Amino acid sequence: VGFTVTSPAAADKGEVYLRANAPVQARVQDLLKRMTLDEKVGQLEQIAVNRLLGDCTWSGGDFNEACMKQVLADEATGSILSGGGMGPKSNTPKDWAIMINTVQRYALEHSRLRVPIVYGVDAVHGHNNVLGATIFPHQIGLGAAWNPALTGATAESTQRAVAATGATWNFAPVADLARDQRWGRYYETYSEDPLLAGENAAAAVRGLENGRSGRKVASSVKHFAGYSEPSNGHDRVPGDMSMRYLQDTILPSYKAAVDAGALTVMVNSGAVNGVPAHASHYLLTDVLRNQWRFKGVVISDWNDVLSLQRAYHVVNDYPGAIAAAVNAGVDMAMLPPDDRTFHASAVDAVKRGLISQKRLDEAVGRVLWLKFTLGLFEHPYVDESKADAAVLGTDKDLARKAATESMVLLRNTGGVLPLAAGKRIVVTGPSADSMANQTGGWTIGWQGIPAGVTVPGTTIAQGLKAGAPAGTDVAYVPDGAEAVNRAKSADAVVVVVGEKPGAEGESDSPRPELAADQQQLVASLQATGVPVVLVVVSGRPLVLGAAGNTAGLLAAWLPGTEGGNAVADLLYGKANPSGRLPVSWPKNLGNEPMYYQQLPGTNGGPDSGYSPAFAFGAGLSYTSYTIGNLTANRSQIRPGDTVGVDVTVANTGSRAGDLVVPVYVSQPVSAVLVPAKRLVAFTRVTLAPGQSRTVHLTFPASRLAVTPGDVNGAGAPRVEAGSYQLSAGDSTATFTVR
Ligand code: BGC
Repeated sequence: VGFTVTSPAAADKGEVYLRANAPVQARVQDLLKRMTLDEKVGQLEQIAVNRLLGDCTWSGGDFNEACMKQVLADEATGSILSGGGMGPKSNTPKDWAIMINTVQRYALEHSRLRVPIVYGVDAVHGHNNVLGATIFPHQIGLGAAWNPALTGATAESTQRAVAATGATWNFAPVADLARDQRWGRYYETYSEDPLLAGENAAAAVRGLENGRSGRKVASSVKHFAGYSEPSNGHDRVPGDMSMRYLQDTILPSYKAAVDAGALTVMVNSGAVNGVPAHASHYLLTDVLRNQWRFKGVVISDWNDVLSLQRAYHVVNDYPGAIAAAVNAGVDMAMLPPDDRTFHASAVDAVKRGLISQKRLDEAVGRVLWLKFTLGLFEHPYVDESKADAAVLGTDKDLARKAATESMVLLRNTGGVLPLAAGKRIVVTGPSADSMANQTGGWTIGWQGIPAGVTVPGTTIAQGLKAGAPAGTDVAYVPDGAEAVNRAKSADAVVVVVGEKPGAEGESDSPRPELAADQQQLVASLQATGVPVVLVVVSGRPLVLGAAGNTAGLLAAWLPGTEGGNAVADLLYGKANPSGRLPVSWPKNLGNEPMYYQQLPGTNGGPDSGYSPAFAFGAGLSYTSYTIGNLTANRSQIRPGDTVGVDVTVANTGSRAGDLVVPVYVSQPVSAVLVPAKRLVAFTRVTLAPGQSRTVHLTFPASRLAVTPGDVNGAGAPRVEAGSYQLSAGDSTATFTVR
């Protein structure tokens, strides 16, 4: 494709902003003062790539000079995105790189000030829009590994792939919480628990932004804040939460990710307590900027500035909507290709004084700061010839390890697992041989792998065949009736069930349960009397009914392209299950929302408290462990202290394994309600058979904080004085906060 990469800085005519070695703030100020109002407004825009193609609409096609001129030259747009799945037809990494370089070249060659664009993608589990990229487990699976370092490694791998195709902004990670199984984006989150979600989101930010590929990529912590709390479980429905719940439970995971250095934050498309998040000065400025000292760029979610007028009706025209968002704290608007009026409306809003010059310069300055920080002025292009090698089939071992660590063994009766060698095994079920089901939404297409597209990888049926020990006979039988027949003469059946892929709304489900026909299939297989191993491929815990009584039960989540090998490693015992539920698995429909941090009540009837099918943190192994001798390093603690604890763990079985060690806190008495226990620290340790170790964990006492006050909550969370009890396994330790 040979073209010469020339840096625009090589054409340095002495402008400070083009000097690579000038301080970033000096470059920002220099550039700002050269910009016209039109050029400034352009930097507030992020436009879907479709608007550069074909007839400048959704239709797609080839780049069209007239469309490019309008967006990149006339409007001097600051950013282009490929929202869920908008890529080149061939979908190779190299063609992605050519696509992004083409946009960049046009922008640099046709804009007066040669300001590079920053290109955004949704690479939420690997570089998932690109054919041939390795697909990691979705976030919910990574949460189940309780291993933020592993999450960081998958993020770093994603950074390398994304950077190799020229994109420098990745809309990940999701720091929302998984608390309502009906909500379809549940699988995009790490956990129901604020600490587990936050530690993973922070690790993902570090992995994405500090990856070592030589090209920097910005992460985007989304969707700030409270997006996962739509009141009826449907995506983008307003959420209502007390200030206490917002501060104590919802905000901490975003804060952890912001504190990890995230360069950008994406806003919640929904509304919180009657105010659309995009118009919330409290969330976007008071909390994010003033309390948390966030310095980066705040980007809207898809078309959500216009939503302030069209969906929420909090303003009556587009200039008013833009002003409301920008004044609340939004720096850039993400726009669909059919939005032709943002630019003029934003210019209008500034001219009418709805947005001050100061706030405009602040927002534009942040976008420019991002571009300087990413090194785009010096390195606007990517080497197209290297993209394929950097993306195709890379890091498969890491993906297999991640999938293996993510899977949770929930039942193993009669020692059905690991499957003994030399037996006859029947494999069946709708998700047994489905790359689409095991990769989920946001894979090639927005709603998952489109029909007719083949994604390289290993399905579960393929993995079980390829990985079978010598002498083991594995038959994959797609037809259910035939599978039941064949099961009668088999030694074990593996039935792989679950959900179809989906995203944003499509994936919402008022009945998050295993589909009736799949329940029926499992029942028929169980009726044969042959031991059944149920593998659930899903983005959320599905109510299983009687199907949950199988001898073996493995939650595989949405494990990605190496998922089949991971299932085989676990079922054949090459790997020892180590995942633990990052969420609570409900017993019945109607248990939603469901999470372990429920507050105490007075009824005490069945299911009125916390009574899941499988609790948060549940997970079995092929060995046995003990956790004991918990001790706190002191008995008197002040709110600003760091608490240290020691706990002794041992592998008392005969196989090596990884043990997750959670430490919880509870308060015997508290002035406002607190959950019966809250996770305050965790680690994951590898233990050889018979090995015993004392592990040391620490946590800031600030993790104990709750918002005081009567029903509305008063002020900031604070650590209540009084006594606290820590627990790990069956072992407890107490301390007092003075
Ligand atoms: C989603 C975001 C995503 C964006 C761009 C939105 O609809 O809510 O999570 O980053 O689209 O594709």
